[in-house]
Amino acid sequence: MSEEIRRIMAAIEKAIILEVSELTRAPPNVVWVTEVSRCIRQSFYSRIFIRSPDFGAAYTILRGRLLHEVILKNMPIGVTEVEEGTRSITVEGAGGRVEIRGRADMVIGDYVVDLKTSERAPERLPEEYRDQVQLYMELYGKSKGLVVYITRDGLKYFYEERDEGRISKLKEKALKLSRALRENRLPEAEVGVWCRWCVWSTQELCPEGYSYKSVGR
Ligand code: SF4
Repeated sequence: MSEEIRRIMAAIEKAIILEVSELTRAPPNVVWVTEVSRCIRQSFYSRIFIRSPDFGAAYTILRGRLLHEVILKNMPIGVTEVEEGTRSITVEGAGGRVEIRGRADMVIGDYVVDLKTSERAPERLPEEYRDQVQLYMELYGKSKGLVVYITRDGLKYFYEERDEGRISKLKEKALKLSRALRENRLPEAEVGVWCRWCVWSTQELCPEGYSYKSVGR
């Protein structure tokens, strides 16, 4: 690769990676919906360390934003409450005070709509995405959630009814993550099938996740 091509490639990569910088730039008393809906130990590490797989995260975010813009531009029915920037709520508890931030793809009537792109849609909605749409319902004050997969074979949707118990647990997780970041203390591991793809599942950083992954091999 010539030096000139190397610089062009590096510039494109940097432009894409800058998309995730807002996630890692947030102060410890602010957490994102996407950080709360997955394992908070994973989110903790992703705040502190930068690794090359962050390009994957940046790509996913960029793809989502482009998709959002294209669909929004062409929507034949009214999309309400679409606004620039993000929504947030403040949660207080024994763990202190935290602001949860996020931006839903669309808000239409009673519904918060979250768009996903994938080769194929899953049979069941992953727990992480259920949690995300629950938090968006809370952020936008809505009672119904729709997660819509855009795939090669067409659209598939999953309906989520607002679940106050689930939202309360997610607020507790947000408080725990914020406290862990403030005190530089590792949060508990949330071991599950997702550990197989987690970049932090090493013996040193997360022995629980590493054991789970090793047994599953
Ligand atoms: S390996 Fe599993 S438990 Fe450990 S940080 Fe990653 S997702 Fe969390």
